[in-house]
Amino acid sequence: ARAGAAIDRLTRVAPDFPVPGVLFRDLTPVLADADSLRLIGVALAVGFGPFDVVAGLESRGFLLGTAVAMAAGTGVLAIRKPGKLPGDILSEEFDLEYGTATLELNPSDVADGARVLVVDDVLATGGTAAAACRLLRRAGAAPIGVSVAIELGALGGRAQLGDVPIRALRLY
Ligand code: 5GP
Repeated sequence: ARAGAAIDRLTRVAPDFPVPGVLFRDLTPVLADADSLRLIGVALAVGFGPFDVVAGLESRGFLLGTAVAMAAGTGVLAIRKPGKLPGDILSEEFDLEYGTATLELNPSDVADGARVLVVDDVLATGGTAAAACRLLRRAGAAPIGVSVAIELGALGGRAQLGDVPIRALRLY
């Protein structure tokens, strides 16, 4: 409850960003606050089954993912935007609320059968989190949940994620 209150209090809400018609929720001030960062890291880590590693989705999911991994005592895996990772990587393209995008993962970086908690700041249309889950499965891992600070309910992101459990600290 205190984590959710911190999100309510400190999130910057920006109309018409990055394009007209989008109401953008910027968590930068929340993450910059020490108490809020700690509370949210703990809150995002609970409520799921056991997991072996956290996957943070570039870019803001990196910040939250690390906070969650520290709270849970796991490592963190960076799921990256295209062109950032060397070697034999897997790619998944998907539609965004505004445009299309790609996420990438090196399957060597995740153990076979690893249980992975996917962490991001915002669940909007669900395309980003769904692509991350597809990447993890292709790499031989098991996405056991999607944990986000904010869910934008009107965009129906849950429908993209099949039966992967989703928890959000705030539903707007
Ligand atoms: P989705 O793929 O669910 O439509 O979009 C989620 C991704 O887009 C997340 O990685 C998130 O960072 C970004 N995103 C979409 N809408 C917002 C928003 O209102 N605020 C923030 N901070 N990120 C958003």
